[in-house]
Amino acid sequence: MGEFNKPTSESEFSKNFSQIKPLMNETEAYYESSRCLFCYDAPCQTACPTAIDIPLFIRQISSGNVTGSAETIYASNYFGNACGKVCPTEVLCEGACVYNEQNVKPIEIGRLQNFATRQAIDENKNLFKLGDPNGKKVAIIGAGPSGISCACELRTLGYAVDIFEAKDKPSGLTVHGVAPYKIENEEVLDEMEYLQNQFGYQVKYNSPVGGDDLRKIESDYDAVFVGIGLGNTSMLGLPGEDLQNCVGATELIEELRQNHHKTEIGKNVIVLGGGNTAMDAASESARMGAESVILSYRRGTEEMGAYEFEYDLAKGVGVRGLFNAQPIEILGNGKVEGVKFVKTEASGNQLKEVARSEFEIACDMVIKATGQIKQKEFLGQIEGVQMDGKGRIVIDESGRIGVTKYFAGGDAVNGGAEVVNAAAEGKGAASGIDKFLSE
Ligand code: SF4
Repeated sequence: MGEFNKPTSESEFSKNFSQIKPLMNETEAYYESSRCLFCYDAPCQTACPTAIDIPLFIRQISSGNVTGSAETIYASNYFGNACGKVCPTEVLCEGACVYNEQNVKPIEIGRLQNFATRQAIDENKNLFKLGDPNGKKVAIIGAGPSGISCACELRTLGYAVDIFEAKDKPSGLTVHGVAPYKIENEEVLDEMEYLQNQFGYQVKYNSPVGGDDLRKIESDYDAVFVGIGLGNTSMLGLPGEDLQNCVGATELIEELRQNHHKTEIGKNVIVLGGGNTAMDAASESARMGAESVILSYRRGTEEMGAYEFEYDLAKGVGVRGLFNAQPIEILGNGKVEGVKFVKTEASGNQLKEVARSEFEIACDMVIKATGQIKQKEFLGQIEGVQMDGKGRIVIDESGRIGVTKYFAGGDAVNGGAEVVNAAAEGKGAASGIDKFLSE
């Protein structure tokens, strides 16, 4: 039996998926901020991909200037509220905090960041100065972290901005792909609404761009930013992959984020993969009441791409690891009934299958968390676009694609990283666009 009962209502779902970094109250925030040493050349700041002035924003909370604190955070990161909860702070700012060296609990920087920005959002504080209109227009394809951050920054520089989003909500993976115990949909969307009110960019939802639309956008706008992220889960090419209940992690997490307890999860689940998405999918299956969840990875534990704390989180809810096991067939008749594996072992840098070591494990759901496809079809429509060997868009240091009027950032460029990386890249590309259009 798993640790969680299958949730049958919204309240049971919320209980199973309670926030691992809940909102601090004022006393907690003042107490925690007062522990900070306000280090000179603070390592926490250096570790932040958006270089937030962390000692300053913590000092502002500690002195009662919470609005100033939010202003400091947003000056560097437009996803300040979401990042306070969804960033892997354990390996970024909090992992770099000097307290770790003394075996003292690091400052809870993420939760403090979330606390300060939450107040600004709730009170709709005016923290931003828009640039004087300069008569130029930029189109942004994709309302994810890179696209929204690019839009906000461009508005401070005086550009009119229209965003084209294929889905019906903004924030990309933040609302569709992050595990629900890290952030709730309402919190993500509140920040998105706040930003749109503050910056006044337009978003056209349910507007996938392709073919003729792209040509029209190209001629109507002075520059175009591409922040389209990645596509669906890649196919593994295994027999039985098309059986019912063999699903992609990205698609399943998206469904879970929208349908909560109504999402169907198997009783005995096998997750294939060793990255952070695999950890999320495994943890979520356990919290959805699966009786057993096995996380299988074809190499050893130490070679997993996932952060250690993510694997600990999964183990903490009863997920069991199966290592050096390569799936070779999804078994079943119409529906998934198991997975056939072969054992593997390292041979130098290579991985080799151990002869006659096949074995089977029964299950009624397989979740593939083995990477997402690149959006090559869309990108192929941009004249002059180049992709590297891994299918990532090649840009220059300003974020520009070749000698085109296109710029890009986020997962489509970095191959799949954190919300905070995409936010940093989108903001950076806005400066590149400004330089390009000012020349
Ligand atoms: Fe504060 Fe830790 Fe950053 Fe130093 S490293 S400024 S103590 S959060």
